[in-house]
Amino acid sequence: MKRRSFLAGASVAGLAAASLATPAIAQGKRELKLVTTWPKNFPGLGTAAQRLADNITAMTDGQLTIKLFAAGELVPPFQSFDAVSSGTADMYHGAEYYWQGKSKAFNFFAAVPYGMTADELHAWIYWGGGQEVWDKVAAPFKIKAFLSGNTGVQMGGWFNKEINNIEDLKGLKFRMPGLGGEVMRRLGVAIVNLPGGEIFPALQSGAIDGTEWVGPWNDLAFGFYKVAKFYYYPGFHEPGTSNSLGINTDVWDSFTATQKTIVQTACMAEANRSLAEFNAKNGDALQTLLTKHGVKLKKFSDDVLKALGEASGEVMAETGAGDAATKEVYESFLASRKNSIGWSKLAEESYFAARRLNFKYG
Ligand code: CA
Repeated sequence: MKRRSFLAGASVAGLAAASLATPAIAQGKRELKLVTTWPKNFPGLGTAAQRLADNITAMTDGQLTIKLFAAGELVPPFQSFDAVSSGTADMYHGAEYYWQGKSKAFNFFAAVPYGMTADELHAWIYWGGGQEVWDKVAAPFKIKAFLSGNTGVQMGGWFNKEINNIEDLKGLKFRMPGLGGEVMRRLGVAIVNLPGGEIFPALQSGAIDGTEWVGPWNDLAFGFYKVAKFYYYPGFHEPGTSNSLGINTDVWDSFTATQKTIVQTACMAEANRSLAEFNAKNGDALQTLLTKHGVKLKKFSDDVLKALGEASGEVMAETGAGDAATKEVYESFLASRKNSIGWSKLAEESYFAARRLNFKYG
């Protein structure tokens, strides 16, 4: 029987029933595995990854059905990159500095000490050549990655004693990822890197003396205030940390042009929505920490911040003098950072200073 005559003879209802019974793959629907470095539905990080997965699924009408696996559900959190690189998973959602063991260059696409704010990072990645150098670094690992979230400026972290000068940092066991951790190490801190879900137990057992994580909203959720009372700012090490969606390049190449546009646009939307969420929720969470949980809010002294800045400058220069790919990323980053600093000084910094002047408003 010819296909045409078969179709002509079939009822519409019969076709619909056959279609429902057909496996997803036969309808052109693909299920893709997304692994994340975050605990399941962790506020702002796990939930952003889930929103992104759901949006891509919805916008492709299920043609790309993204199934999310939280930290440890398919692979341990820090193995997410390898899982996608090898094709065990199709995509990851995490922070690029977790992959600095693969190449130091990855740090630049999450956050580096005294680097860029969220807005400045977006300026670099979207308009300053950042995406191009990122693609070059990630391609040998069979990864194509996009910005897909941002925490804004992070806090300096939780300490079990006051940090009045850099001597107070010496000998502390502290959790901090990326190049910020290397900066602290140079000031005598014993640095460990732990995925989010492992920090609280380490803090509670005394395996670490302190930790940084993100900011008030996220840190409240993990309950660090139960163990450490001194909460320092600003987070010199993470001035606007991006999260990213990394996709196996075979998977990426298999997408249609429409699917690629959808994935890319969904990531950009989530980068924006996620930053707004952190900015919306940090203020109230900070008040809860201070008034309900007796947390002591402290600002690092200028001397401490300057010492951290000098060590950061050294670490960045050494990192930039590494392999050719990292050098290219560093130079692109530095040029964009310089450009942003010049403009930010006239625009945002001047405006913030003006808004703080003493006048009646509302
Ligand atoms: Ca952090």
